[in-house]
Amino acid sequence: MTTLAPQTVKCALCGQKTEIVAVASTNEFGSCDLDLRPPPMARDTLKHQVFRCSNCGFSSSDLTKSKKGDEASISCPEYLSIIEGDLPEVAKTFCCAAIIASRRNDLEPACFLWLGAAWVCDDQGDNENACHLRSHAAVALQGMLDVSKGNAEADDTTRLVLIDVLRRTRRFTEAAALCQKMCEQESGDFTAQLAAYQLSLVEAEDDQAHRVDELPKGAE
Ligand SMILES: [Zn+2]
Repeated sequence: MTTLAPQTVKCALCGQKTEIVAVASTNEFGSCDLDLRPPPMARDTLKHQVFRCSNCGFSSSDLTKSKKGDEASISCPEYLSIIEGDLPEVAKTFCCAAIIASRRNDLEPACFLWLGAAWVCDDQGDNENACHLRSHAAVALQGMLDVSKGNAEADDTTRLVLIDVLRRTRRFTEAAALCQKMCEQESGDFTAQLAAYQLSLVEAEDDQAHRVDELPKGAE
């Protein structure tokens, strides 16, 4: 089960106290999605993962910590247009936190914050916004690969998430090229099997969510 922890935190940017409800503990039963979205019950804790200061709008998974430059981030046009826009509030908070992380050059957190915003939209059946938010995640994922320090396993995970993001935004040609490259490089292992499964989805122009445990039997 998921245990929640209501608490009062002080915003690191403006000092305002904000009531938040964070996750104290949760669990995962089953398989994650191909973009690493966890299974229940962790899957359903999105609104307890990021928070926004009610006074200054600072958004983060931890409002008590800020970095140099965050003050400028919360007043940049992109940030303000998200806050004034019409996304669901939880998606807005994920986007705001993603913008801050991107401007800090924290690409991995930025990627999963953009994906978090997309998952909120997925749950509301809002494909258009989910697609748009995934395109931001794709930029962060590509950025991670561009600055990679050569950890092959981490890069494979990044590539597999990127393939899923491209597929779900119907960028099938790019997704297929990446799948084919991965299948050629590593024949037979689990990574190659995941890439091959993604390729079959891409070829069918399937843009829906799929889980890792859908891989043909024996693949794991
Ligand atoms: Zn604040």
